Amino acid sequence: MILLDRVTKTYGKSMKPALSRISLHVEPREFVILVGTSGAGKSTLLKLLTREEKPTSGKIVVGGIDYDHLKDKHIPLLRRKIGVVFQDFKLLPQRTVYENVAFALEIAGMTNREIKSTVPKVIELVGLTGKEKSFPHQLSGGERQRVAIARAVVRQPKILIADEPTGNLDPKHSWDIVRLLEKINHYGTTVLLTTHNVEIVNKLKRRVVTLDHGKITSDQAQGSYRQGRAA
Ligand code: ADP
Repeated sequence: MILLDRVTKTYGKSMKPALSRISLHVEPREFVILVGTSGAGKSTLLKLLTREEKPTSGKIVVGGIDYDHLKDKHIPLLRRKIGVVFQDFKLLPQRTVYENVAFALEIAGMTNREIKSTVPKVIELVGLTGKEKSFPHQLSGGERQRVAIARAVVRQPKILIADEPTGNLDPKHSWDIVRLLEKINHYGTTVLLTTHNVEIVNKLKRRVVTLDHGKITSDQAQGSYRQGRAA
């Protein structure tokens, strides 16, 4: 599903690669936590997957799409396979919960009828039924992240990338979000989570891939946050 084979990424004229001969294989439906100190290369890895950045060398295949043969016109198709949520939610502030989620379908060219039948289901999935007409500023941080997750999964991507989704949340809301990611994973979506939250990593008992200075230094099946790696 996600395959990286000896991928190196060097930005511009930088001497030091951000990622150095990374090889990683993630199966469909896996839940993988990516950890590493600031500057380790986590964001670069995620940007290579979403094709915001191109590797300097090495092979990337996601959902059967070989990035070596990926034409610009196919990038929207690729992005449909990958939903992304961020630490700062990135919601549209002038739009309601419903509209934020519907917007993702409008730009994909869905009809109004399809939108009307799809959006309520996703809002229910993330536990926001009753909040459809609220604006982002009327919601808690945890609720805003739920809207962002609804928007990311409404087109049923194969992969959900959650880049520090709990970074702005208190412990209770953080766990609510992690449980929601687990639910989405349970329904069949591959989840790639980056976090600095030691407790979440240690309690989840999921696969943990540790990056350090652009290299994978450990890959554990039921991993924990390793001492000395905390940011
Ligand atoms: P992380 O997400 O783990 O904090 P990054 O992938 O952001 O790590 O960064 C890895 C390395 O690449 C760092 O040394 C960083 O300074 C460098 N880097 C990241 N983005 C860019 C960029 N757009 N231009 C130049 N260097 C970059």
